[in-house]
Amino acid sequence: MNIIFMGPPAAGKGTYASLMKEEFEIPHISTGDLFRAIASKNDPLAVEIKSYIDNGLLVPDKLTIKLVIDRLGKADCKNGFILDGFPRTLNQAIELNRTLNDLGKKIDKVILLDVSFDLICKRITGRRTCENCAKVYNIYTMPSAKGDICEECGAKLYQRKDDNEESIKVRYQTYLDQTTEAVNYYKAQNILVNINGEDSTQNVFQSIKDALKGE
Ligand code: AMP
Repeated sequence: MNIIFMGPPAAGKGTYASLMKEEFEIPHISTGDLFRAIASKNDPLAVEIKSYIDNGLLVPDKLTIKLVIDRLGKADCKNGFILDGFPRTLNQAIELNRTLNDLGKKIDKVILLDVSFDLICKRITGRRTCENCAKVYNIYTMPSAKGDICEECGAKLYQRKDDNEESIKVRYQTYLDQTTEAVNYYKAQNILVNINGEDSTQNVFQSIKDALKGE
């Protein structure tokens, strides 16, 4: 099964993609995580990527598309994959389609998580991420039982530098301006499913699974 999670920043894409990964045993590919890994290195590309992330701007399509195409070519994607945070532009969606066509594959479903801007702001300020396994917590709604330590792997939790109110406004606007076209692209193909992302984690996850089963 080849799935895409779309939605504004902090809609829960990463959370549900991780849950799906455990249930379906297919890789969770987050372009945000891939870019943060590149940005943590010590080279000119890291500096360039870091400046896009820190300013809430999209990394240019050429670089982003290459990163994803390379990742999709790895052996673990043979039986399916979950894309989180990609595509974010119409051009990315078209290039992804072209690549999958060449491989004789297709996207089965696109899950669009709907969450209001007010809730996004609340989620962003409380979000904490594991520096090792990237598991996401929220200090208000889903804290780690071990404080600022990850329950899963014992590594430290950190607050993303781009998780602040200024950056969220830019990232949200970027989403409206650039990602809406990509959303409409999948809507026109009848593979887009809207899910209310404001319900409890358990209910949202159940709705996603029902949608994937075609219920
Ligand atoms: P995320 O963790 O998905 O919120 O992504 C964090 C940052 O990584 C974004 O604000 C962008 O700077 C960059 N990024 C992630 N995915 C993409 C993408 N598909 N296209 C361009 N930039 C991206």
